[in-house]
Amino acid sequence: MIVVTGATGHLGRLVVQDLLDRGVPAGEIVAAVRTPDKAADLAASGVQVREADYDRPETLAPAFAGADRLLFISGSVPGARLPQHHAVVDAAKAAGVGLIAYTSILKADTTTMLLAADHRATEARIRETGLPHVFLRNGWYLENYTERLTDTLRNGAILGAAGDGRLAAAARADYAAAAGAVLTSDGPVNVAYELAGDESFTMAELAAQITEHSGTPVTYRDLPVDEYATTLTGFGLPPEAATVIADADAGIARGELTTDSRDLSRLIARPTTSMPDAIATTLNN
Ligand code: NDP
Repeated sequence: MIVVTGATGHLGRLVVQDLLDRGVPAGEIVAAVRTPDKAADLAASGVQVREADYDRPETLAPAFAGADRLLFISGSVPGARLPQHHAVVDAAKAAGVGLIAYTSILKADTTTMLLAADHRATEARIRETGLPHVFLRNGWYLENYTERLTDTLRNGAILGAAGDGRLAAAARADYAAAAGAVLTSDGPVNVAYELAGDESFTMAELAAQITEHSGTPVTYRDLPVDEYATTLTGFGLPPEAATVIADADAGIARGELTTDSRDLSRLIARPTTSMPDAIATTLNN
């Protein structure tokens, strides 16, 4: 039995599909979700749907019962994650799962980004359980940029504070395939994979590719970190989210979201989705 948390999210859905594509019988997959109503399509495909709300610890251990492998997809609200993640890990221990794979962040043990603190603490809690584990240290999604392409083209600009730092992003589908590979193979345990795109790019290179593929001139405007956070707040983002996003750009500038590990393309046995291909695909759809 393979249990996937956050299975109604973008990444979780791709993982469930990847498992089905790999031939895992639907009845052997559990979509452990906060909102079962959102998982009606998964239930219709034969996947078991169980309630698992990180904020309601009593739902967790029953949702994980019988799990040979558990994919724990990190929570989506950075400020709220620590107690949620501790509850998930404790429930995995109580349920006696055979393996816990956790979607962490690239370079979790060395990065100084604000976002990484929760991930580092979660990894430590998982190690403390003594459960066999795999850390899927995911880098940035290409979708962080392609999903905003319409706005980017309208504004003719990408704003950020990443300077000329390089970013090795990959598609969510690539990270999902890596999770699927780990969940369905007998690879090493108690390891961390540093998962990122094969090729890295700067924000200026991203803007140049968008310009080339769309025919609309787009430039990168680099701002001081504080000014970028203030700008994001002006766009309507809550101050805490704006601070975290601007700080992540500072992390890109320091090289914390790039790696030449090639762990991702090795795990998925193919090259990762390139930034230019992701832009072209988005513009053609
Ligand atoms: P989504 O926002 O699409 O999905 C988040 C999932 O987490 C949803 O299924 C949501 O459930 C679930 N969730 C949120 N809160 C709870 C809770 N209290 N209890 C149980 N489930 C909960 O994110 P993605 O799938 O794109 O990304 C997965 C994770 O990766 C994110 O949660 C975040 O930690 C991280 N991330 C990584 C990024 C990167 O670039 N590497 C960028 C953004 C996020 P529901 O459907 O009920 O809302």
